[in-house]
This record gives sequence, structure tokens and C-alpha cells, in this order.
Amino acid sequence: MGCHRQTDPSRTGLTSLERLIGMDTESAPRAIAESCTSNHMWPSPHQSLQMGQWVKLICGASYQDMPTVRRLVMLYALAGVDCVDVAADSAIVAAARQGLEDAQRLASWSAADEALPGERHARLVSSDPWLMVSLNDCEDPHFRKAHFDAAHCPPDCDRPCEDICPTAAIQFQAPQAGSVATNLCYGCGRCIAVCPIGNIAARPYLASPETFSTHQLGQIDAVEIHTQTGHQSQFERLWQRLQPWRPHLKLVSISCPDHDQVVPYLWDLYRLIAPLEVPLIWQTDGRPMSGDLGKGTTHATIRLAQKILDAGLPGHVQAAGGTNGYTVDKLTALNLVNRASSTVGANGVAAGVDPNSRPESRRADAGHRSLPLDHSDVGPTISGIAYGSYGRSQVLPLLDAIDQELQPWLGNGSPDQWINGQTRSRPCPGAIAPGSNPPWCHLDRSALGHGLALAQQLVGQLKPNRHFLPTRYG
Ligand code: SF4
Ligand code: SF4
Repeated sequence: MGCHRQTDPSRTGLTSLERLIGMDTESAPRAIAESCTSNHMWPSPHQSLQMGQWVKLICGASYQDMPTVRRLVMLYALAGVDCVDVAADSAIVAAARQGLEDAQRLASWSAADEALPGERHARLVSSDPWLMVSLNDCEDPHFRKAHFDAAHCPPDCDRPCEDICPTAAIQFQAPQAGSVATNLCYGCGRCIAVCPIGNIAARPYLASPETFSTHQLGQIDAVEIHTQTGHQSQFERLWQRLQPWRPHLKLVSISCPDHDQVVPYLWDLYRLIAPLEVPLIWQTDGRPMSGDLGKGTTHATIRLAQKILDAGLPGHVQAAGGTNGYTVDKLTALNLVNRASSTVGANGVAAGVDPNSRPESRRADAGHRSLPLDHSDVGPTISGIAYGSYGRSQVLPLLDAIDQELQPWLGNGSPDQWINGQTRSRPCPGAIAPGSNPPWCHLDRSALGHGLALAQQLVGQLKPNRHFLPTRYG
């Protein structure tokens, strides 16, 4: 697919790919994507955990805007995350799967693009992140929706609720005529705090694992259970309900906020779920949903990560809740980042990490801790980091423009295809304007390139050896 192609890429591009690898239209994109990714220098998600370079994007346990989730997942998959964490909602899982497929398609098309002499090309690379869904065993701020009755609002209220909402979930058509768009609300609570008359409340809910069919469970790689100290019986009940999930899972994560009894509580949970045949993550949920508020929000998760590391719990420790662009620097300053794994071999894997290790082999890994690979006298280090509100806020303003650029190439698609168990095997036959180039051919000028650069800047803090956008960084 050449950068100056003026015809429908959904046909010409694939014909070209078919000729290139002698495959039919159905298998060509996936095959090229696989060959592209199998030869790249990226560790698998499991290897990233072992190397201490695991990065997760949190789309929001309650965030249910499908188009945004699809684009966020696509962007961060191209930027190299190991995992995307979404709401336990089959439509959202479908949208995330589409985002992952979009990333693979863009990567395969850019890889197959034939450079004109002297032209500088992008070579997008897409990894295959794991798809995680989040569940809760008790009332939790991540699992709630704001609501209010606008009839009770003073007509002269300045509507600070509307201004402060990071997702524009609060919408007014006129004074005293407004509401919360529940699919956009992820429960951050900022509107509740600013309402001068206390008119906004939150409705908590329990995410239900039973909403997924057996087929849909096959599309979910990992599960995260949000719990709190003292809720062992609720956790145990949820763990039992997850029995049908376990054969499908590649990883289990337990997310817990700080508490003076958090360490004995997590040990109790560990004894309850052990032995576990897949990797286990302890997500240290510092200050939930706050990373976009400022520099200082990251301290709580760092303190908690240090506490859990010191406790020596079997499993990996991953920071979240208030993480932002300052977090890795602060963790590094405290020797909590495994910089020994920055030396990566020709196979793309740090010394000391088994390049063939796969959790799919059911190798017992739950007892592994993230230890510095050079076995120096520094203490244990975190295995990874998760970005939620900060990661989203970095690219959200660009998503509409990215959507417009990609519309002719990827279209809007329909999550129903994922829900019904079919993948969309043909590109969208979009109308390509004469003379238009695909956005990956001019990343330095496109919204896609801008968004990728921002996402990569964040993801790359813990993955210093990865180069994603050769036109800009190579
Ligand atoms: S400010 Fe937060 S809690 Fe309030 S509506 Fe917006 S996303 Fe929901
Ligand atoms: S801040 Fe409170 S009173 Fe004012 S418009 Fe919003 S919900 Fe109504």
C-alpha cells in the first residue's frame, strides 16, 4: 500500500497484501500483523511483568462510551501497553476488541506500505495487549454513577458540575434541564464535591460476572477484582462466581486501597486463591481516579506500593490510582523501578528473563516477585504501572480528529460483530478523497501521530528500549 495511493485501500491494499504473501483476503491482515509483531523487539505482556516494564491502560471500570474506548485502546495498543482494562460490560469488551483489531490493521498496513524513494515512512507496530475487565466485591468508588435532579438546581447556579466533569458527562440543555450521561460517567465524584447545594449523589453498583457468555469469556484475558480491607467474605463469594472464568484467564489482578490492616488482609486473600497457575498482580490503588489532577496525586500509590513490596507478598506489584507523568521518576528515585532490565538482548528480552515464558503454559508464576535482574542489593521493585485518568486525559482532546482521519480506513464498525463472535475481516470501504494519504504516512502532521507520540511518551517511561514511531524517533 503506497502512501500516495488514491483508491480505496480496503480493496487495493489487501490485493497488494495478498500478492505479497499469497494469502486470501480473510487471513492477510492478521498474518501480516503477526509477522510484523513476531519479529519486533517487544516482550510479551508476561515478559514485561517479569522485566518490571508492564504498563496498563485503564479505560475506567464504569466508563461505557464505546467509540472512545475503541480509540483509546487502539492508540495505547500502538503505543505499546501490555494490557487494557475496561468495564465488565460485553459491549465495552467488544469495543475494546475492535480497538485492538484496529491497531493490528494499522500496523499491518503501515508495515506493508511501499516507500517511495526518499520518503520517510512510519512503521507502526502493534503488540497484542491482554484485555482485562474489572469487577468489584463491594461498594467501590470505581463502580458508581453520579445522578441528580436538575429541577432542584437554583436557576442562577453557575453549574460548576458541568465544568469540572472530565468526560463532559453532565449536560444541560437549559437552566434546570440537565442530567448525567451515564455511559460517560466513571464515578470520579468531582461533580459531587463542587455542587453548592449537595444536589448530586452517587449510585453504586456491583459489576456482574454472569453477564458474559462462554464465548465472550474467551475474549477476556485477565480479570481484576477491586476489594477493600475487611471484605474477605465478599471477595470469596466473587471468587467462587468466577469459577467459569478461570480456565480462560492469563492473569489475575487484585486492586486494593491502603489501610492499616491491608497487608494481613492481602495475605488472607492470597491464601484463599492459592495455588494460582497464572501471574498475580497486586494493584496498589493509591488515590483513585485522580492522576489528571496534579503532580502530588501519585504519592499515595507510591507509599502503598512500597508497603506491599516490603510485605513480601507473592506476586507482582503494580502501581495505580493517581499515577501520572511524574510517577516513574518518583519510583525510580526510590529505587522501586527495575532499571537492570533496561539492557535488552537481540531477542527483545532483558537478560535473565525466559524469552519463551508464557503464562498460557500454566506455569506457576503466582509466587514470583519482581526482583532486580542483576540481583544487586537493592530491594524488590514494582513490576509495572497502570494509567487511568491521566493516560486518558492526554489523548482525549485528539480523539475526534483521529477519528476523522481514520474514518475512511477503519470506519465505525459495529461491536455486535464481536459480541456475536465474528471478527470484522474486511476493512471498511470508506470513500478516500483523491490525493489523500493514510495518516500513518504523515505522522508528524497528523492527529494520529500526535496522539501516538503523547501515548508513547507516557508508556515509554517504563519501556525505555522501545521505539514506536521511526519517523519521529528513529
Ligand atoms: S464529574 Fe465524575 S462523577 Fe461527576 S458526572 Fe463527571 S465523571 Fe461522573
Ligand atoms: S452544581 Fe449542583 S446545583 Fe449547580 S447545576 Fe450542578 S447539580 Fe445543579
